[in-house]
Amino acid sequence: MALVDQSHPHASLHAGMMTQISEELVRALPKTDLHLHLDGSLRLETMLDLAREQGIRLPAEDVVGLGKIMRMGEGERSLERYLTAFDYTLSLLQEKEAIERCAYELARDCAEENIRYIEVRFSPILHTRHGLSLKDSVESVRDGLRHAEQEFGIQTGIIICGIRHISPESSLVLAQLALEYKGAGVVGYDLAGAEEHFPAKKHREAFFLILNNNINCTVHAGEAFGPSSIAQAVHYCGAHRIGHGTRLREDPDLMAYVNDHRIALEMCLSSNVHTGAIARVADHPIKVYLDEGLRVTLNTDNRLMSNTTLTREFMLGVRHCGLSVHDIEDIIIYGFKSAFLPLKSKKELLRDAYKELRRLTVPYHPSGDEHEANI
Ligand SMILES: [Zn+2]
Repeated sequence: MALVDQSHPHASLHAGMMTQISEELVRALPKTDLHLHLDGSLRLETMLDLAREQGIRLPAEDVVGLGKIMRMGEGERSLERYLTAFDYTLSLLQEKEAIERCAYELARDCAEENIRYIEVRFSPILHTRHGLSLKDSVESVRDGLRHAEQEFGIQTGIIICGIRHISPESSLVLAQLALEYKGAGVVGYDLAGAEEHFPAKKHREAFFLILNNNINCTVHAGEAFGPSSIAQAVHYCGAHRIGHGTRLREDPDLMAYVNDHRIALEMCLSSNVHTGAIARVADHPIKVYLDEGLRVTLNTDNRLMSNTTLTREFMLGVRHCGLSVHDIEDIIIYGFKSAFLPLKSKKELLRDAYKELRRLTVPYHPSGDEHEANI
């Protein structure tokens, strides 16, 4: 498909924009994925392999059948079905080799769409059913990611997740684990799991440990619950980024605070529809947030359940939310800026990405088309 296609109806939507944003362009652009779950991003073929190797019965024995169970349909909304799919992936991720393989394949799949930096998140406590230690699971993910780094040049980091609905005590144990692997593969800490009825502030002891050891953190918030959940993430847990933050716009004052402090939003379009946070992609506030100047990043969340890629998420944003080339450039730059990396490494990544981005988007910038760089 040609990069330049002026026949598309969106071609003239953005002032000064002369060409349509193609999937081919988006795939070629350097990108980051800061919000992706290991147990939500397996390949179907690998699930079948692992089930055979481990003697585990899955509800289907071929890719097509398994795809129907694991993947949400276009526009489908069902948190229950979405979560059930994780029972199957987690049942296969209880052995060192399986975890390592899936981490490697995930990084490889990301590298194939020119994602330069990923942060893979998972909760070690969900991988101990066969006696694996918490450390073993972290090291397995790290080994798989390092293998992919060497082969494909992608850079990676691990985020360890505490789980809201398990217990604050387990979150503290996982925070201690993140501390043990700080500078040794782990780049951050997260709180995931059921948002409603399980407030983040109950886990503040874990975040106290994280923050007092100068570790980066993010919190899933404002997806299944309102802005008060985001306020807790920011004010009780010291979140440097927010996982989703879809409902942030309901509190303009908090939104201004998040904006002023450059707290990045890890947005995921497809999964927000699938879990019921929004009715359809067109209802997502991503464009509103970008226009407001918020530090918006775009991510996949769960490549398997949402049957998506990062390229697809960008294209959904273009088609349904009216993202322009400038918006895409901002999202990409925000992604690199928001990485949980030391400033020096981040600067190098950002500089390279910026050069490549400018080169690839030249046809989209008619002369005199000035775009103010965002902070
Ligand atoms: Zn998530």
